[in-house]
Amino acid sequence: MTVMLDKLAAQESKRALGDGELAERARRLSEQYFDGRARPTSVRWVTNQNTRWGSCTPAEGSIRLSHRLQGMPEYVVDYVLLHELAHLLVPGHGPRFWRLLEGYPRTERARGYLEGVVAAERLPHVPGARDE
Ligand SMILES: [Zn+2]
Repeated sequence: MTVMLDKLAAQESKRALGDGELAERARRLSEQYFDGRARPTSVRWVTNQNTRWGSCTPAEGSIRLSHRLQGMPEYVVDYVLLHELAHLLVPGHGPRFWRLLEGYPRTERARGYLEGVVAAERLPHVPGARDE
């Protein structure tokens, strides 16, 4: 049974979440970290966002995540999602905003992961390895 669950977990992490699952995830994160106060009207993946991981329009309550996050570990997606959810409650990045996010235990790890992705993309291609 353990093996089967491990397999399921592995599939789960490789498969991209659908928009519906993304909305459900947002709901759970809001519940867990913000007492359910952040209530987005829509949460969806977008492919036109290459310089930002996520964005939101508080007036509309909409959240968009870059498709580049698809396939990344759940704690990374959660980190970005939680950040955008927090913006529905507090605009800008002042002390009140960061206080909202203090409860998320994997902030440093998620930031490190994303910094690693950005750094890796800036590396020159190894000749022959990727261009063949
Ligand atoms: Zn922000």
